[in-house]
Amino acid sequence: MVDLKGQYTKIEKQIDEKVLEVLKSTAYINGPEVHAFQKELEEYLGVKNVIPCANGTDALQIAIMGLGLKPGDEVITADFTFAATVEVIGLLNLTPVLVDVEKDSFNINIDAIKKAITPKTKAIVPVHLYGQCANMEAVLEIAKEHNLFVIEDTAQAIGSSYTFKDGSSKKAGTIGHVGTTSFFPSKNLGCYGDGGAIFTNDDDLAHIIRGMVNHGMYKRYYHDVVGVNSRLDSIQAAILRVKLPLLNGYCEARQKSAAFYTNAFSSNKNIVTPAVSDYTTHVFHQYTLQILNGKRDELHQHLLDNGIPNAIYYPVPLHSQKAYADERYNEADFVATNELKNTVISLPMHTELDKEQLEFITKTVNDFINK
Ligand SMILES: *Cc1c(COP(=O)(O)O)cnc(C)c1O
Repeated sequence: MVDLKGQYTKIEKQIDEKVLEVLKSTAYINGPEVHAFQKELEEYLGVKNVIPCANGTDALQIAIMGLGLKPGDEVITADFTFAATVEVIGLLNLTPVLVDVEKDSFNINIDAIKKAITPKTKAIVPVHLYGQCANMEAVLEIAKEHNLFVIEDTAQAIGSSYTFKDGSSKKAGTIGHVGTTSFFPSKNLGCYGDGGAIFTNDDDLAHIIRGMVNHGMYKRYYHDVVGVNSRLDSIQAAILRVKLPLLNGYCEARQKSAAFYTNAFSSNKNIVTPAVSDYTTHVFHQYTLQILNGKRDELHQHLLDNGIPNAIYYPVPLHSQKAYADERYNEADFVATNELKNTVISLPMHTELDKEQLEFITKTVNDFINK
């Protein structure tokens, strides 16, 4: 699905030099590389505060901790996403409220959010799935009306931008009260281990979160709140400093491959190619098709048999998972996710795809689905 080796080979010299520098510096934790990366990412995103942390799941958990919600408060999020999003809500003794997504964009459905709001609702977590932003202007309107926090899960969409109706635009993750991302190796901005970050323009919230990632300490050995230990290490920060200036180019390479795929599948009536909403750019963390003739599972196997990696993200919607099922949920409210679980398939998507590979993949898919 990804070609980390191919990507590394192109930047091997710079990466190796930077990593060796860190090894020799012995500043392995909270060193100057971490601080420099934080500043560079703040500049790239156009956000006042970046707080690096250990991974994208921690980033979500800590962002939500920073908002001071109370046990039992309800947090609305998408039914169709990686489990990390809903897991942290449960871990914090908040009540996750899963809602349906839009079939075209795979992102949270605005009407479903409106329907799910109760007096206990305190926050919405839109997930910018597969690399494009959710309908943030509509999410922000609902949040304003009901006085809710908005936490953006940007693990799959770092680098994508959202354009508002007035023409202004912002980077994904900097639109709500707080945004989070992951630097897991296969993400669009991946390090060579685990990493994550939290973004916010709210200086007070940033201060709270900076203490929370460091055992709730605001002054050395004075613990004002219960915190966690969640750090980005200096080696990962050094690697990310090499890769951040390449991120826009990486996004463009993905967009080019996506355009090739979409063009190749455009006349296949049994295939729905990803729709890009008009308010967002798409950085194609995943390139995900919907297969309409019921042959998705057969296609999955056929591609594997032909040496083409592919994946089903996600085969079971969260409301149907043992850990997150709840009597409150009604199947009729999950029309899109119940359909998508049977139709979606993600093709190889990364920065190193070449024309020959794309031609082979698209021909194999088209031949099989048209049969
Ligand atoms: C990858 C991912 C996460 C978690 O990131 P980790 O760094 O693996 O903890 C959270 N949300 C979404 C949508 C993701 O894709």
